[in-house]
This record gives sequence, C-alpha cells and structure tokens, in this order.
Amino acid sequence: MNTSRPRRDFFFSLASLAAAGSVSRLNASQPLPLPASNMSRAGDRYVDPRKVLLWESTRKEIRERIEGGLLKAAIVPTGSTEQHNEHLAMIQDIASSLLVAQQAALQLYPQVIVTTPVPVGISPYWMERKGTLTLRPETFLAMVYDICDSMRQHGVKTIFIVNGHGGNDQPLKTHMAEFRSKLGINIDACSYWDAYHSSAEIQAEVNQLMAGGIAKVPGHSGEFETSFALAAFPERVHREGVDYEKVHLQLKSADDLKSDRTFYYDSLLATAEKGERLIRIAVDWTAAKVQSMIAQA
Ligand SMILES: [Zn+2]
Repeated sequence: MNTSRPRRDFFFSLASLAAAGSVSRLNASQPLPLPASNMSRAGDRYVDPRKVLLWESTRKEIRERIEGGLLKAAIVPTGSTEQHNEHLAMIQDIASSLLVAQQAALQLYPQVIVTTPVPVGISPYWMERKGTLTLRPETFLAMVYDICDSMRQHGVKTIFIVNGHGGNDQPLKTHMAEFRSKLGINIDACSYWDAYHSSAEIQAEVNQLMAGGIAKVPGHSGEFETSFALAAFPERVHREGVDYEKVHLQLKSADDLKSDRTFYYDSLLATAEKGERLIRIAVDWTAAKVQSMIAQA
C-alpha cells in the first residue's frame, strides 16, 4: 500500500498528542495541532519510543531507572503466530498487543517498561491452516510466568499482561490468582479488546463504529483486526492476488469453513480510520489501568 508511510506517521504522532491532551477523539479529516506533536506527558519532551522497550535498553538504563525509583511497572505483551485468513500476516496478534503496550507505556514514561513479547500462543484450533505455531497451555503459561518472575526479581512489583490472542485469554485470566499468590506482586491480565467493554459509552461507540457491531470484536481477521492492521501496519495487509472464491481449504468442519469465509468477507468492511479510533481506545484504557495499578502499589 502506497499510503502506508503517511498513515503510519499520522498514527505514531497520536500517542504523544493524546498524552499532551491535544486529541480526545480522532478525526482524520481535521488537521492535527502541530506544536504538541513530539511532547510526552511525563516531561514535556520528546521520548524515543524505544526507551519503553526492555530489549532495546541497556542494563545501565534499566538499572538506573529501577534504582532511581522511576520504573514502577512492566507490561508483558502476549499474542500468537497463527494464520490470519488469506490477507493478514501471522504476526497480527503479537504486533497488535505490542503496539498497544508500547503506546500505553509512552504515555506513562518513564514509569513503565514493555518486556520482550511472548510471540507464540495457544492456537491448536488453527493447526489445519499452514503456518500456525502453537504452544501447549503449560508451556505458554510457564513462559509468561518466568518473564513476570524475572521482572519481580529485578524489583518490579506491578505487572500488567496485555494479550492480543483469543486462545490465551481464559488461560491467562484463570491463572492470575495463582500468579499473584506465587509471585507476591500486583499482577493482572487483559486482552486489549477488553477496553471496548470498559464503559457503556465506549461500548456504544464501538458498536456504532463497527459495521458488524461490537459482536464482531475481536473476531478473527475480520473487520476489527483488519482495521487495526490498516491503521497500525498496513504493509501487513496483503489483498494482492487474493481471490477467496478460489481458495480450497482442507478443513474437517463445515462450520469452520463457513466462519473462515465469513471472516474474510467481513474484513472488506475494514478501514484505517476505524482502526485508528479502536487503537486509541485500547491504548488509553491500558495506560489508565496501569496507572491505577501503580497508584495501588
Ligand atoms: Zn488475531
């Protein structure tokens, strides 16, 4: 897509704008106010987006932030590497949760670090489609737990897991009480689309925004995920050469085949503008959640 660069630049300017209180609601047709575009809420100065990523940091940077009492919480992004119909890349879920985590951490800089993401999830039900990787639930949960435990050992007492793949949602939430008691820290987990049910107003807005209504959120590679991708990483949307009528999937279940088709045709309702608004809601909600967890600690 040749629109990817301006769209992406537009998107990446949003977190800092919103952080500075300049954007309460996206409207792509209105010019954005310029002066606040590179300001962070934390210090009214530009923050390099890599500074909130653990794996881009040096040990010196992390040590100084922890010892100086600046680093108060970590976000652990989880997702999957799995088929996303004919037109989206397999990285979709982990790229989405990482993006939400990073944008939220930027709003709260320097208090929050984003750990290395967990890029493979629990996806056994997509294994009939080539390319999907899946972990056993115990493998996935052990990896998430060990990352949280590593951060605990470094002195981080507040951790929020931001998930981007449906198959991880219940296993994570079911195990939070156990994680909490074993680790002895303030820890919680969400899927980023929980944001869309966070208030009656947000729910009504998302319901109206989506042609298929809120019932289609998150879905799988349909209107929602394709809108997210068009806004955040349009280079990962591949419509070229795709003709769903010529697709011959070898699937055992007729229902599975039917829903695969439905998701594809739903995806044609996606727009970057919808994605921009949906991402903004998820980022603001995640940042508010982490901020309240820090305040409780
Ligand atoms: Zn997905």
